[in-house]
Amino acid sequence: MRFPLALTAKIARHIIKHKVLRTPKFALVLQLEPLHTCNLTCTGCGRIREYSTSLKDMMSLEDCLASAVECDAPMVSICGGEPLIYPKIEELVNGILAQGRIVYICTNGMFMRKKMREYLASIYNSEQEPTLARLLEEKLITAKDADEIRKGRKGDRAVIKPSKWQYWNVHIDGLEFTHDLIVEREGVFKECVEAVKMAKALGYQVATNTTVYKETDVKEIEEMFEYFSALEVDGHTISPGYEYDAAKKDMVKRLNKQPEDFFLTRKMTREKFAKIQEWGERFTIFGTPVYQEFLAGKRELTCTAWAIPTRNVKGWKAPCYLMTDGHYAGYQEMLTKVDWEKYGVVNGVARDARCENCMVHCGYDPSGALGTNAVFGDTWKNIKYNFGAKPKPFKAGRNVNAFNGASIGKGHLAEARAAINSPRAAMNGAQSVFSRREEPHTHETTGGGCGTGDTSERDALLAKIARKDG
Ligand code: SF4
Ligand code: SF4
Repeated sequence: MRFPLALTAKIARHIIKHKVLRTPKFALVLQLEPLHTCNLTCTGCGRIREYSTSLKDMMSLEDCLASAVECDAPMVSICGGEPLIYPKIEELVNGILAQGRIVYICTNGMFMRKKMREYLASIYNSEQEPTLARLLEEKLITAKDADEIRKGRKGDRAVIKPSKWQYWNVHIDGLEFTHDLIVEREGVFKECVEAVKMAKALGYQVATNTTVYKETDVKEIEEMFEYFSALEVDGHTISPGYEYDAAKKDMVKRLNKQPEDFFLTRKMTREKFAKIQEWGERFTIFGTPVYQEFLAGKRELTCTAWAIPTRNVKGWKAPCYLMTDGHYAGYQEMLTKVDWEKYGVVNGVARDARCENCMVHCGYDPSGALGTNAVFGDTWKNIKYNFGAKPKPFKAGRNVNAFNGASIGKGHLAEARAAINSPRAAMNGAQSVFSRREEPHTHETTGGGCGTGDTSERDALLAKIARKDG
């Protein structure tokens, strides 16, 4: 089966129950943001910009757990910010699992190995030695890490254990060069790959979570799927990038970029996602086939943002994960008070100008599952997709040149490409310093990756290029 039976059955039961009860609006996935603090500053991220004044605030554990109960979504996606920074993340994950819900931990991957080492320490006995030996051999832990694990975990502090009800959902926006550029830090891609390998070795379920931007090379996304398929990840979420207001302002102010150079229009989204159905056959793509048809431009859907509500430090965010017209104290209050007819795109016409280019999964994927704009055959399509055979790992994906070079930083592909391709940059040595490395290279076993994190040299180069070009 493409997706685990228990998980599919749980979601199907939830939808059928509400259809029978004729509940007009209900939650399928809760996007829970216990905090907005993050260790990265990704270029397209609206969160760290929109909530820049409340980065130090966080929801209490009790509030988080109560929010899941309140909206009763069968799936909870813990995001942020970086959720692994949340001090009670273990208690939160375990608490939601204890409520009988499916948990996705949406992470940038930088602290995953630490959390998994803590898990290993909590279960350590001599029977774990073969596992430690394998992790050491694959350079996923160091000898020092292994010694720490052998000491065990003091007290009965909670850990994140492998569970069939839980996924690590790792943010990956391309191969090494692109991903590190977008997250604005070298070494992040490498760390993500090692975290994914370690998670699979320990029996966790792992998915990747990709946002496609205007400059995203579709061929590269396909290679990224091939690479992670070879690592036997359990699924992929992919969604077009959306023009967050806050991200747009940041882009202009901090990076001196125009948002239209970075974000997709609907037309562009359809071009980028033209092969999504083919990808759905080759890889375990999360999202209904109906949503895939929508992304590929084969049909229209109406936004059902209320089905993927967002709860954060300020309350229930309306109307959606992306746009903020208000925060409400309760989910039901939000459902009642928001005029949902004001939002979305209907038959190609935006009811709100800000929705015009939006095709994101949190607005439209539930529409595919809930039968909004249903046409004959949709139910069968969804059943066939969910219950169909899981695509086999693409073994040849190991040959993908995933580590294709440290990028130039400051998070913008056009900037990096312009810098690399510019004759002036070449004159100043950019080609030799920053061009993609086509030869595979080796990595150290720990730390933040092949980059030093020091972007001053790159920043200086970019500034020099900008001055000369100007
Ligand atoms: S890792 Fe996530 S929360 Fe952090 S800056 Fe990037 S997109 Fe935003
Ligand atoms: S179409 Fe829906 S999900 Fe997209 S921005 Fe508008 S309200 Fe939000």
